[in-house]
Amino acid sequence: MSYKGKKAAFFTLGCKLNFSETSTIARHFEVMGFERVDFKEQSDVYVINSCSVTAESDKKSRNIIRQAIRRNPEAVVVVTGCYAQLQADVIKEIEGVDYILGTNAKFRMTDFLGDLEKRDETYVLLQSQNKNRDYFHAASWGDRTRSFLKVQDGCDYFCTYCTIPFARGRSRNDTIPNTIKKAEETVQAGINEIILTGVNIGDFGKSTNEKFIDLLKKLDQVEGLERIRISSVEPNLLTDEIIDFVAGSKRIAPHFHLPLQSGSNDVLELMKRKYKRELFAERVEKIKSVLPDAFIGVDIIAGTNGETDDFFLDSYEFVRDLNVSQLHAFPYSERPGTKALEIKPVVSVDERKERTRKLIQLSEKKLRLFYEKNKRKECMVLFENESTRDRLHGFTENYIRVETGYRPELVNQMVSVKLSEINNLGNFEVEFL
Ligand code: SF4
Repeated sequence: MSYKGKKAAFFTLGCKLNFSETSTIARHFEVMGFERVDFKEQSDVYVINSCSVTAESDKKSRNIIRQAIRRNPEAVVVVTGCYAQLQADVIKEIEGVDYILGTNAKFRMTDFLGDLEKRDETYVLLQSQNKNRDYFHAASWGDRTRSFLKVQDGCDYFCTYCTIPFARGRSRNDTIPNTIKKAEETVQAGINEIILTGVNIGDFGKSTNEKFIDLLKKLDQVEGLERIRISSVEPNLLTDEIIDFVAGSKRIAPHFHLPLQSGSNDVLELMKRKYKRELFAERVEKIKSVLPDAFIGVDIIAGTNGETDDFFLDSYEFVRDLNVSQLHAFPYSERPGTKALEIKPVVSVDERKERTRKLIQLSEKKLRLFYEKNKRKECMVLFENESTRDRLHGFTENYIRVETGYRPELVNQMVSVKLSEINNLGNFEVEFL
């Protein structure tokens, strides 16, 4: 069936993985004849790829769904993503939603659209994620300069505060040769920098009896690929071999994103995380020993159930003394069906916000220090097409944000620069070499 002359609009909430999947689904719609339009425009179909990592994400997902329905009450509205998989009953209460498609049905979306008729009743297709072994490739291109390449999906860790294993199923991936094929296609689409994404990418190879390090070694040889960025890797899966390989690679960026979640061993125990803080500190030291200028970003949750004042202070002091570049601090958000709900005491919402504020303040100091240490350094920047205020932005290999006057010929180019001054927006101005 061709949908020539029909319009489709997409909205993605949440993580890099969701963005890679929406971009892939949208390309499939274009193959079916749809014209892709901005979500703010009138469209025949609206697709919302939702997120459910926090209560705030649930709320945002509902707001975006309602926006689509208001924008064109005649349009077909399709909701997918983690919120759809986990809380379809809540979404079903929103009048005007036609399809709620869970994690497995996401990639077969156009099979359901038929004549683009509005449905009297919402069609819901969910499958339990307990045994989900289906793996669908995804890569974002055409939306942004850098591409999110999906290399892994699902998670087997079941941290007590997290719902992602319930939304996305078991840890799985495709083989290294097939994943490399996807990377090559992405490069052929004009992409110079790929960001590896998934749910627990360090666990790559679990369903194919392969290893993440071997994937990195193969990716490092992909013709025409200028830069590879590893997004989040669980600290217990970040081996010396991986760190040493990154240190020796010309393509893999010295940029690590490590989810710590708490700097207190007591809280890590309550979260059922797979490591103690000593391992985390040792990983940071290892990275800095072979890559002194590496950027290390750290995820941390403030105010989880059971995080007493003393545990928070212990966590704060541990993080304060870590040689890392930036903290991504979030207030704990209760998630339905998680074990954390049984843990006491519960930290008040105000106190969670206060602890998060303290961590963000600490993060600002760390980031400023990291930027100051890199002043006058020569580095390579990939300038991106997302320009604002007639300024062009980009990131160095060690994830420093730079800007310069808008020069269209520099978009998607890897350019050699020297970091000069930090401007009032906290970005580096550059001198071209
Ligand atoms: S590792 Fe833990 S926090 Fe991360 S997705 Fe898996 S269960 Fe969630």
